[in-house]
Amino acid sequence: MAPHRRYAVFGHPIAHSLSPRLHGVFAAQTGIALEYTAIDAAPDRFEDALRGFFARGGRGANVTLPHKAAAFALAEVHTSIARRLGVANVLTLLPDGRIEADSNDGAGMLADMRGRCDIDPRGRDVLLLGAGGAACAAAFALLDAGVRTLAIANRTSSRARTLTEVLSGSGQVRALEWDALDRCGAFGLIVNATSAGVRHDALALPRSLVHARTFAYDLSYGPAARPFVEWAEDSGCAVADGLGMLVETAAASFERWHGVRPDVDAALRDLIR
Ligand code: NDP
Repeated sequence: MAPHRRYAVFGHPIAHSLSPRLHGVFAAQTGIALEYTAIDAAPDRFEDALRGFFARGGRGANVTLPHKAAAFALAEVHTSIARRLGVANVLTLLPDGRIEADSNDGAGMLADMRGRCDIDPRGRDVLLLGAGGAACAAAFALLDAGVRTLAIANRTSSRARTLTEVLSGSGQVRALEWDALDRCGAFGLIVNATSAGVRHDALALPRSLVHARTFAYDLSYGPAARPFVEWAEDSGCAVADGLGMLVETAAASFERWHGVRPDVDAALRDLIR
């Protein structure tokens, strides 16, 4: 029997991660023998743990909070999108022994919006809530997808302004004050990239953000997305959570490492069964 190829997801905490299950589903779909584990590494242990993993035969790793910037920093090769964002969620051991950093969060979000939600962001006026790492990836992806305008609101308004500056030159971008959301009209697409739901915090968004054709999308999924999803439904707009995005990003990592595109819809059905 061929030796198992080793892969892992690194985070802190990581016990909640669906990645081992997803890669197991993809492996079963494609008949590829592999081992995929979740490795909990505190920030001061991350680099040693990751280098040790690759030294002991690891071939690829997904990286989640709080290690995405550290993952970018320790890689020797960076894809253009990772370089643009300064973070990475996919690390791949190249044949010459160097580690490549990539970020596929933004592409995964777009693939889910277009493929499963039937939403094309092109030409829409978009409100992005949040200014952290996921918001930054979402913002670049949305601008690349041709949104008409992108407004960014964040609880800490200075971070929204900083992100707006980072994005300047990439499209029509402006920062909004969080406290003034009830006075800025409605949007065609509202993307929640805050971690409020994960932290069990309410967002208290005004219904005036929504018009008849608004689509709302939460990067969080499961119980963490419930408050935003309920707000969107109560406001009368269509909404989706980020489970499809998670599966899309896992599938893109799998394809990067194994050269085979797994069946995302079948994996999603398996997850929600
Ligand atoms: P970060 O920690 O980098 O950013 C968190 C953001 O949420 C900040 O803008 C922060 O605002 C804001 N925030 C936190 N609590 C509140 C609150 N109570 N009210 C309003 N805003 C709040 O996290 P990430 O950007 O990495 O992740 C954001 C979310 O996206 C997470 O829920 C994560 O699970 C999800 N995600 C989903 C993925 C998927 O595949 N579906 C992939 C990546 C992320 P402030 O600046 O004021 O602190």
